Amino acid sequence: MEDVIYVVGHKNPDTDSICSAIALSGLLNSLGLKSKPARQGEPNSETKFVLEKFEVDLPELVTEASGKRVFLVDHSEISQTLDNIDKAEIFGIVDHHKIGDITTPNPVYFIALPYGCTSTIVALLYQYFGIEVPERIAGIMLCAILSDTVIFRSVTTTEKDREMAEKLAKIAGINDLESLGIQLFKEKSGITEKSTREIIVSDFKDFDFSGKKVGIGQVELVSLSLIEDRKDEILRELRKMKDEEGYTAIYFMLTDIMKEGTELLVVSDSNEVVEKAFGKKVQNSSIYLEGVMSRKKQVVPPLEKAYS
Ligand code: MG
Ligand code: MG
Ligand code: MG
Repeated sequence: MEDVIYVVGHKNPDTDSICSAIALSGLLNSLGLKSKPARQGEPNSETKFVLEKFEVDLPELVTEASGKRVFLVDHSEISQTLDNIDKAEIFGIVDHHKIGDITTPNPVYFIALPYGCTSTIVALLYQYFGIEVPERIAGIMLCAILSDTVIFRSVTTTEKDREMAEKLAKIAGINDLESLGIQLFKEKSGITEKSTREIIVSDFKDFDFSGKKVGIGQVELVSLSLIEDRKDEILRELRKMKDEEGYTAIYFMLTDIMKEGTELLVVSDSNEVVEKAFGKKVQNSSIYLEGVMSRKKQVVPPLEKAYS
């Protein structure tokens, strides 16, 4: 077993998965442990922008867990973690999702809080251990909070997220959180530069719902009009993915962060489950969900229940 602790977020990393890994790894090092941040895939355009803005290095790519000591952040699902996780030593988990299906033979640090962002929890851990958050790290953690909470608009947002964001903003010297947030979402969608497949996979997660492989992706936009003329090609690509990769269904959230709602694109052999989950009919492979912005809190739970 290697003695260095790799801190790593979920597959298909988002800004929180990469930035909370960097921040937690830094905290572990400050506490005298030997740690390195890692990532399970390429950073999205938002994450690249954040790391460049605050001059923080991209963590190394790690996808294999065998023989490694790992600290997982921002997930606890086998389907989202490193390959061969059963051959690793899990040192700890810090997460803000539902408890997944990862189990450990040994006692671990397991910190799960239902806040809007893993970086909020990591900021609290800095406080808990009395360690000052470095300026650049404060900047990237702040961006992770703005991204995960959709600039405090998402129902997942808690008082702790606001409180930690304000503290981190002070350290990083950022005054206008709203305009930094909007800039992040513009970077993230990057609709005009991306291929259809890139738009789909940039924030896409696999779930196992009662033995069925279900994919749920999301793109968060400052306006749905940005994607209107690409909806048909997105649907075509989703159907192709479903057939090629053996999904029971794929759901794709087109989230309007200003109007605070989601158009859910549905690609499934049967619409029965999704109609039961949301109490609405699918029309032209789509359902509009007023007030829905959070995959983890407003889409995964009703779908998982409907599949069970
Ligand atoms: Mg995440
Ligand atoms: Mg997160
Ligand atoms: Mg997210």
